[in-house]
Amino acid sequence: MIQPETRMELLVSLAKRRGFIYPGSEIYGGFANSWDYGPYGSELKRNIRDIWWKRFVTGRQDVYAIETPIIMNPKAWEASGHLETFSDPLVDCKRCRKRFRADHLMEQLGRDPAAIDLTGVNCPECGGELTDVRHFNLMFKTFIGVTEDESNVAYLRPETAGGMFVAWKNVRDSLHKRLPLGLAQIGKAFRNEITPGNYIFRTREFDQMEIEYFVKPEDAPQAFEMWLGEMKRWCEEVLKLRPANTEYVEISEEERAFYSARTIDVEYQYPFGQKELYGLANRTDYDLSRHQEVSKEDLRYLDPETNERYIPYVIEPTWGLDRTVLAVLAEHIDIDEADSVSGDKEPRMVLRLPPILAPVKVAILPLQKKDDLVGMAAPLAAMLREAGIATEYDTSASIGKRYRRQDEIGTPWCITVDQDSLTDQQVTIRDRDTMEQVRVSVADVRAWVEERLK
Ligand code: ATP
Repeated sequence: MIQPETRMELLVSLAKRRGFIYPGSEIYGGFANSWDYGPYGSELKRNIRDIWWKRFVTGRQDVYAIETPIIMNPKAWEASGHLETFSDPLVDCKRCRKRFRADHLMEQLGRDPAAIDLTGVNCPECGGELTDVRHFNLMFKTFIGVTEDESNVAYLRPETAGGMFVAWKNVRDSLHKRLPLGLAQIGKAFRNEITPGNYIFRTREFDQMEIEYFVKPEDAPQAFEMWLGEMKRWCEEVLKLRPANTEYVEISEEERAFYSARTIDVEYQYPFGQKELYGLANRTDYDLSRHQEVSKEDLRYLDPETNERYIPYVIEPTWGLDRTVLAVLAEHIDIDEADSVSGDKEPRMVLRLPPILAPVKVAILPLQKKDDLVGMAAPLAAMLREAGIATEYDTSASIGKRYRRQDEIGTPWCITVDQDSLTDQQVTIRDRDTMEQVRVSVADVRAWVEERLK
């Protein structure tokens, strides 16, 4: 059992050492809270994204893909309320100059974060006096074109959702689909966070996977339940997060956004505490009504059954992709014991990733770097790769070291080719989790692996 404090340290160092996540801009001394996803981190992220897409978009008949720009007409952010209200309350310590989110301080004090009143509260770091609460807009501002004046101001989107509401009219008119109808988008969002940190948990740019699910107003509660079920199954069946590590927190009316009829935060027990992983909200007709008001376009839906025109309600399940990577790494990093070269037991670090998420599925390891073994192993690796199975071929170092490396990047199966393989045409497949080994005929390897990736 790894202690939570150690779990985070082990995770960060493994992720760097093995090519999952590196500090951003490191050769220039780094750049606070920016991270590079290395070869295995990018693959892990891509697998999560692809499985999500297959499950919630191409695998369903009621959800459609969409891709909208990061920089939109600023009017969209006026309509959505982001320009006016997308801000966090912040306070500074007058003595040590540390900056805090006032709502987080309230939470730490066990008070209601919605009712920010910090009278009598001092800096938790140095005890100094705090400034008054100020509201800080989280949207990144930029300028379009050559002149940097107010008329050219534009914003980087703080969520992918906005573009989907703005595109609703065109989708409605081009698809002619009946409700319920969902739009899905995966992409970068940007927030000038006051207190970024906790590794990739809170950064200033991050990826979101979002769905806006348009429904008849009376169907909204049932659609909410449907998406809640989908989110639970995603956490349990795909990410294999232990149910004890996730909590579905019903947000009270006082704490949720004023337009939301119901909100559930999906929280995860990260090594640094229980915090938000995903969110699910019934946004009512708020967004489309606001866009209708500001754009002056008719955004209503004509119900072909009743001939009524109305603004649909929207159920919004939202998944942070980077927080998913973090939860998956934290959940599945483990230490057990393996045999050392001398026959003693030694600690083994292992990433027990669900095989479908693992960046590498199979490692082909000829026992020695001999021509005849290599001659059999290399074509096997090429064949698996051609079949679309992420395969590594490694002849370096001792077999023990090669196993350790694959265990640490979470490769579910290592296949060794040894002297006997040349005569019996069989290879040894070692299971990452149990370290048990089975002999499988070379001709059956592909089917054996594919069966386990279903
Ligand atoms: P928090 O309360 O942690 O700031 P939020 O409630 O503002 O999050 P939403 O606006 O609901 O977050 O964003 C949807 C999802 O996007 C979150 O559930 C999370 O997974 C992800 N997300 C939001 N902000 C960040 C961030 N700064 N870094 C990484 N992921 C983020």
